[in-house]
Amino acid sequence: MDYEAMARELESCPCAAGTQRLPYIRIGESVLPTAGEILRQEGFPRKILLISDENTTRAARGLLRSLVENGFVVRRHIYPDLRSATLETVKHVRSLTPGIAGIIAVGTGCISDVCRMAASQTRKPLCIFATAASMDGFASATAPIITDGFKTSHQAKAPDFLLADTAVLEKAPAFLTAAGVGDIAGKCIALADWRIAALFGECPAPVAAVSYKDNTSSQVFCTEPYCPQIAAHVREAFHMVSRKTDSAQPYSTQVLEALILSGLCMAWHGSSRPASGAEHSLAHFWEMRKLFAEEAPEFHGAMVGVATLLLAEVYHRTVNNPSPAFVPEHKDKVGLRRAFPGLEAEIKRMNCPSPLANLSPEQLAETWPDICRIVREEIPPTAELEALLRAAGAPLTPEEIHVPAELVTEGLRYSSYARKRITLLRILNGMGPGIV
Ligand SMILES: [Zn+2]
Repeated sequence: MDYEAMARELESCPCAAGTQRLPYIRIGESVLPTAGEILRQEGFPRKILLISDENTTRAARGLLRSLVENGFVVRRHIYPDLRSATLETVKHVRSLTPGIAGIIAVGTGCISDVCRMAASQTRKPLCIFATAASMDGFASATAPIITDGFKTSHQAKAPDFLLADTAVLEKAPAFLTAAGVGDIAGKCIALADWRIAALFGECPAPVAAVSYKDNTSSQVFCTEPYCPQIAAHVREAFHMVSRKTDSAQPYSTQVLEALILSGLCMAWHGSSRPASGAEHSLAHFWEMRKLFAEEAPEFHGAMVGVATLLLAEVYHRTVNNPSPAFVPEHKDKVGLRRAFPGLEAEIKRMNCPSPLANLSPEQLAETWPDICRIVREEIPPTAELEALLRAAGAPLTPEEIHVPAELVTEGLRYSSYARKRITLLRILNGMGPGIV
């Protein structure tokens, strides 16, 4: 995959506001035994901190030897099975960095998240050695870190180096690759939501936003313009995973390449908009409520996959019926307070002003044929998406990811309020007939 050519093409694109700097990417056979050599040749600093957990250490057996044989001085820390990325772990990684010149994170999930934040705070070069293709956040510049029991997005850094060995990816547990497929399946909803938002120019004019912390107001500008070029790359990532492109590569490598591509699309755009719509809001809502109930959340991609099936069903059902009767925006404040326990200020910040503030019922009725067309163009029939997830062995139903029926209903009604972003789900909830 020629990421460099894609980045070059975007250089002249006005909507690609993010960074076009690419990490050094090497995916292939025998990358594990030659990782030390690659990093030495590419000038990665000699004194390194190697962070892994028990699972990723096992998956990347031989990496340490390759590093030591190539002259690297390695300080190593192995966590037990790291299932959540917390601020405490970030602090712990930071405490291991004195005298260290570079960090190598073994793993693309929580390990990558804590290391990306620690590397950003300590300004150290970072290499990620991928052991599974399970989610796309690892290429981005922000990290979702659990803070006071809630997952919040923190400033982090994208890796400077990204290495993956196809044999290691092939041996990764099937449920991890399945989670990666779930994360990519959601891109069809994200693309539809982004194009629908673009019909209204997103936030066409700067709008005054009130900060509820210090009561000052500031100008909020549209930072999520629709970029056809970036959207085409996200669509390509979706097609790579739905096996609509020819490739001689093993499927797990295809999935990792698709995840890297969608991660880069976010970096190029300077926001998560190209790869995250109502399906991610719904998955994040479930995760947030699970954390609140002190339950272990499922894998991100597994939840995104299930959310994608639910929303594909809702979106197709909606556009196959006559145009909904749109009304001026209404908010169920009591329901919102209940749905987001302890996050009242945050929800207020995301909804004052509302992303729907500039939309009128008449405008929605007028654009309805375009909305229907976009849904049909971007989102495959639910059965097709289901077959894709089933073939990967991914969960298909909320029960399989331990999300009870009440949380499905609540999520479909309120999850889109956690983000200042127009999605079809948000339109249906705020100005349409609702969906449940
Ligand atoms: Zn995701």
